[in-house]
Amino acid sequence: MSKKIRQIAIYGKGGIGKSTTSSNLTAAISYMNFNLAQVGCDPKSDSVNSLVKGEFIKTVSDLVRDYGESEETLLESVRQGFNNISCIESGGPEPGQGCAGRGVLVALNLIEKYKIYKKFNIDFVVYDVLGDIVCGGFAQPVRQGFAEEIYIVTSGEYMSLYAANNIAKSIKSFAESGLNSRLCGIIANLKNTENEKDTIEEFSKKLNVPVIHYVPRSKLVQDAEFQGMTVIEAFPDSEQAEQYFELAHNIINNTVKNIPTPLNKEELLNLTQKYRQNYVR
Ligand code: ADP
Ligand code: MG
Repeated sequence: MSKKIRQIAIYGKGGIGKSTTSSNLTAAISYMNFNLAQVGCDPKSDSVNSLVKGEFIKTVSDLVRDYGESEETLLESVRQGFNNISCIESGGPEPGQGCAGRGVLVALNLIEKYKIYKKFNIDFVVYDVLGDIVCGGFAQPVRQGFAEEIYIVTSGEYMSLYAANNIAKSIKSFAESGLNSRLCGIIANLKNTENEKDTIEEFSKKLNVPVIHYVPRSKLVQDAEFQGMTVIEAFPDSEQAEQYFELAHNIINNTVKNIPTPLNKEELLNLTQKYRQNYVR
């Protein structure tokens, strides 16, 4: 009997910290007796950089473009990174030459077709997915057979919450159309905006999911990144590494799987404005 692989998808606005969070998360989980894969699903293609000493690895899209779709091509796209985490980047088309999400669609279909997780004996997969628009390829990681557990990374900034709310809307609509994917929590990646924790806390309550962890902003993140590493690898004894271990622990033990209840535009605006000082309505 094939064992059930735990697959989670991390969505969020571009630049919010998905890749940083995903890489530190997989690095932390790699100490917990799992055999992991991290799949970057963003044409930026830098999801796993800090797991492979800062390198840009060859993407599935680039390899397929050069050598065609085959098992060999796909095997070549898998790089063993920190603590043996299997690293894959879907990649995407050159800007202006096709839909950005198509790379994700192609990569995931090939991963499935050639049973890559089985070959590498993977039992835990993290998909790091661009969530500005959840359509086409960017929805693929939460389609049947892939990730059923979804987390959204957000700060307290309006635009980031706006994207998070749209992702929640997509999850709700997928759930209503019969998919098993559910929202399991919000990962707060703090930017130190005004009353940020209160804002994110209330947002999460309204969405009907918990804040799974508040990840503080830390200079160590960039210091580690500069060395091509995660905080877990570069500064394993630091307070920030401890935060990522806590995040990992909370996700491993989380049993929440909810259909979210997204906010309407007015509610979202009210919520972000309410926590700004001196705001008069
Ligand atoms: P995304 O994958 O969502 O596009 P990244 O993970 O690449 O975003 O992060 C964008 C930038 O923010 C990176 O330069 C990263 O170093 C920085 N960053 C992310 N999280 C933190 C944090 N908790 N503290 C400090 N800097 C952070
Ligand atoms: Mg990224």
